[in-house]
Amino acid sequence: MPLINLLDYDLAGLTAYFAELGEKPFRAKQISRWIHHFGVSEFAEMSDLAKSLRSKLEGTAHIWPPQMVTQQASADGTHKWLLDAGSMNAVETVFIPDAQRGTLCISSQVGCALECTFCSTGRQGFNRNLSVAEIIGQLWWANRALGRDPKGERIITNVVMMGMGEPLANYANVVTALNLMLDDHAYGLSRRRVTVSTSGLVPAMDRLREDCPVALAVSLHAPSDKIRDEIVPINRKYPLAELMAACQRYLEKAPRDFITFEYVMLDGINDKPEHARQLVSLVRDVPCKFNLIPFNPFPNSGFKRSRAETIQRFRDILIQAGHIVTLRKTRGSDIDAACGQLAGKVQDRTQRTLRRIEVA
Ligand code: SAH
Ligand code: SF4
Repeated sequence: MPLINLLDYDLAGLTAYFAELGEKPFRAKQISRWIHHFGVSEFAEMSDLAKSLRSKLEGTAHIWPPQMVTQQASADGTHKWLLDAGSMNAVETVFIPDAQRGTLCISSQVGCALECTFCSTGRQGFNRNLSVAEIIGQLWWANRALGRDPKGERIITNVVMMGMGEPLANYANVVTALNLMLDDHAYGLSRRRVTVSTSGLVPAMDRLREDCPVALAVSLHAPSDKIRDEIVPINRKYPLAELMAACQRYLEKAPRDFITFEYVMLDGINDKPEHARQLVSLVRDVPCKFNLIPFNPFPNSGFKRSRAETIQRFRDILIQAGHIVTLRKTRGSDIDAACGQLAGKVQDRTQRTLRRIEVA
């Protein structure tokens, strides 16, 4: 019998597992705290568990995080971890500190199937979904490495699912991992400080609203279906009118009273003043904030970052219309940790690279 990986379970799963072993539910809370609060991976270190229970566990289960390949720190305090995902694959996790918060950016898949044209992960193709252990394992490692500040507060205060992959395309595993992020017996983060970023999988947005409403960021990137169909191809399935309606529905249960719209600034594609005005009209019924992301280049992307003045002008139009707009700073560029540059290592099962060469 292969050993069960306890990192694959949220508290409900652990409780069910302990019930099978004939143990009391509080054991699940106890072990969850050992694993997630203290970063322990050996049963032998769990000093308040009876020896008999520890040996019972050793025969059936283990705590098996993804293996760490490299850990890098940038001059600006950004950290990046490369974690082994087996079969020559790897995924990346990035920690970004600023004055008020410490944010961990987590990956959800090896590669991504959604083919947004300006995204390095999308260009690499898709291999597979990450398991719960591989998703929560990113937080487990980072939390162990960074620990607490001198006042005893956790260094990681926020999690954003903005690494490699589309989180809502790996729905069940992502929701189990979210449960662990929120659970007081695991990471105890507030719903407002955990953000799922999606390119707009409308049915899954509706499910998330019911199952585990956390803060939501939507990768909008275009003011019209014409442009969005080209750069975010999932738009052909769930066009903007449907996406806006899904955002409104999400807000009925969301922990924050706005959606964050991410908008990558691509020179000459989506950055003209008329696009900003169209955008204002598109979102008129959705309480929202904008996060403008200057495009982060990668080899052979075919796109250019908008000029600083263009971004300024675009931002001013949104602000004049009454919107709150943030401009994402590029962090950790000395270790290639910027948004959309997370390359990891993907053995592409979809053979996208090959298809592109054939087309060219
Ligand atoms: N799949 C999810 C989350 C991962 S990407 C999503 O698409 O929302 C996190 C953000 O980075 C998304 O808004 C994505 O569109 C953006 N992004 C992707 N490639 C980028 C690039 N090269 N430069 C800047 N932002 C990029
Ligand atoms: Fe996938 Fe998000 Fe990249 Fe689009 S932007 S290809 S959804 S990771």
